[in-house]
Amino acid sequence: MIAKYFMAPPPPSSRPSPHRLRSSAALVALLTASALCTAATARADAPPANPFAAASTLSFQAPRFDLIHDSDYQPAFEQGMAEQRAEVDRIASDPAAPDFENTIAALERSGRMLDRVNNVFSCVYGADTNPALDKVEEIEAPKLSAHQDAIFLNQKLFARVKALYDQRDALKLDPEQRQVLELYYQQFTHAGVQLSAADRTTLSALNTRISSLETSFQQKLMEGTKAAALIVDDKTVLAGIGAEGMIGASKAASSRGLDGKWAITLQNTTQQPVLSSLENRTTREALFQKSWTRTEKGDANDTRDIISQIAQLRAQKAALLGYPDYASYELYDQMAKTPQAAQAFMNRLVPATRAEQERETSDLQHEITADGKSFKLKPWDWNLYTDKLRQKRFDLNQNEVRPYFELNTVLRDGVFYAANQLYGVTFKERKDLPVWNPDVMVFEVFDKDGSPLGLAYFDYFKRDNKNGGAWMSNLVGQSKLLGTKPVIYNIANLPKPEKGQPALISFEDVVTMFHEFGHGLHGLFANQTYPIVSGTAVARDFVEFPSQFNEHWALDPKVLAHYARNIDTGAPIPANLIDKIRRAARFNQGYALGEIIAASKLDMDWHSLSASAPKQNVDTFEAASLKKSGLDVTDVPPRYRSSYFLHIWANGYAAGYYAYLWTEMLDDDVYAWFRDHGGLTRENGQRFRDMILSQGHTQDYAAMFRAFYGKDPDIGPMLQHRGLAPGEN
Ligand SMILES: [Zn+2]
Repeated sequence: MIAKYFMAPPPPSSRPSPHRLRSSAALVALLTASALCTAATARADAPPANPFAAASTLSFQAPRFDLIHDSDYQPAFEQGMAEQRAEVDRIASDPAAPDFENTIAALERSGRMLDRVNNVFSCVYGADTNPALDKVEEIEAPKLSAHQDAIFLNQKLFARVKALYDQRDALKLDPEQRQVLELYYQQFTHAGVQLSAADRTTLSALNTRISSLETSFQQKLMEGTKAAALIVDDKTVLAGIGAEGMIGASKAASSRGLDGKWAITLQNTTQQPVLSSLENRTTREALFQKSWTRTEKGDANDTRDIISQIAQLRAQKAALLGYPDYASYELYDQMAKTPQAAQAFMNRLVPATRAEQERETSDLQHEITADGKSFKLKPWDWNLYTDKLRQKRFDLNQNEVRPYFELNTVLRDGVFYAANQLYGVTFKERKDLPVWNPDVMVFEVFDKDGSPLGLAYFDYFKRDNKNGGAWMSNLVGQSKLLGTKPVIYNIANLPKPEKGQPALISFEDVVTMFHEFGHGLHGLFANQTYPIVSGTAVARDFVEFPSQFNEHWALDPKVLAHYARNIDTGAPIPANLIDKIRRAARFNQGYALGEIIAASKLDMDWHSLSASAPKQNVDTFEAASLKKSGLDVTDVPPRYRSSYFLHIWANGYAAGYYAYLWTEMLDDDVYAWFRDHGGLTRENGQRFRDMILSQGHTQDYAAMFRAFYGKDPDIGPMLQHRGLAPGEN
């Protein structure tokens, strides 16, 4: 089938990116030789088959990481695309009248080799890259994107899809097939296949222009961020960042050829981590201003003109495709469905958030006074005084917490245990399967009746050649049509212990493990025939629902008691420590939620412009959007400003940043349902698995939620969970 590729490391919870093609009998035959045989019989005139040419014969078609070489990827991409092109041509020019089997199911079967190489490449490129793989990405990514466009703009192929779609009521399709047909029709239409030839030319020109501006934005942002590092000659102005911080700053300066100086480099959010420890207020303000204006200096790295152009061109593209604005174009297949629904949802969060921000501002102002200072709170003071207050109120010391969270125990007795209690699944480590890095662990997952369900790979430790953050995806997607069971993986960046030492992690890291395995369960419980609707192939504003939901179990009393035990004494974590963790998690939420709502609304406003709107002045537009939000944006600026909002201008999250908040509403609401129905029970888990986790995208998201809960989602539990409304969640 044909879906979006994630050549870049997938977002935390990617849609799988399946491209499939039926392998020829000859290729299958080549691959039946074992590793040893292949090597022994390979001769100069008969090179060994590409390891992606046929499905792996290992259990669950686990990829042959032991046989795959860096040099295999590029030819596999090329061959995979050629094979799918041929297959699509055969489908499009099939003399037989179109039916579901010879058109839709055939498309779902196509591109198998491309699917195999893309799944493995995405994993390794994100988690364990090297210059050779970077090169493959650079060369193949644009080709893949063109390959996909060519399929979705194929007129002959679409004529068959449309013929089926037009008679869909008469086709006697089962509900999943009906959904698959409708999704194909929508995706073709969305790509512009129904436009006139002239309009298609316009669309293609718009796409090219937008894509080149996106690249330019990215380059300027990267340069601007680098150039905006704070450089100081006198290290005393950095007081507070600690010995380690000072060494890092000195190294950062040296790497820029500034020996003897100190550099604080910027990360791509408005607030900077060291702002919570810098004691010198002038330095704090200087660093904050560097961050805030990094791409607004009127120099070569200024991105404002580019983003106003992107916004305008996207509005024109949406209009060409029949939508009032780009947000409507992007949200058509999301749970929220319209920008209005997403905005209305965020507006409902504003009053409680604003009230909390006011309380926080007042508390921090008191803290400043208590510190013997008389200045008025500014954004660059926020994190420092929040940390002082946090320390005072909760006295939560990481060194006190970490001995209770040992990675392997958290995984086996926490993450797996919760899944066992809820869903009855069990786990057995597999040391016999090849992996992409020695740090990777593999487990076979068994269903409640002991039957094999799939494989789960875990690559937890930080490496220099691994992308930041944490994410989940599939190495093999589940599909009854293709006879495949799910092979999923979780990647994170947890600190690797010294050899022989236990991996003690923070509570945030524990939550990350539960989160990513929540995506994992969504992938493992997939139970679909067609890949396009299988497992985690769901909307952006739905995909974080299972993962965030799974986070809740990290603090469930029964689960916690099972995994949080002292590494030396085996004693369970003391109740007062749990209480501190719980309360500290609800601290500073007016700021935390406010900065995300402000950024999400800014994103939505930019993408709600109509095609007839003139090119916007970024400063005026942003100021108006923030003012309109109803939040305290003076003290709590947006998490990303327009000019450095990478997610929305170049990373595929245009009109989609709200999705993180939306899914939070879903998961907190459903957790409240669990709490009201007895919490961690097999019965509750089974219901959630049956009605949500195993459904993929076979149904409308809102309908799925309603069926589970008997009502539409509500923001109450989300506000409670963040401590912004009374009540327990
Ligand atoms: Zn996620």
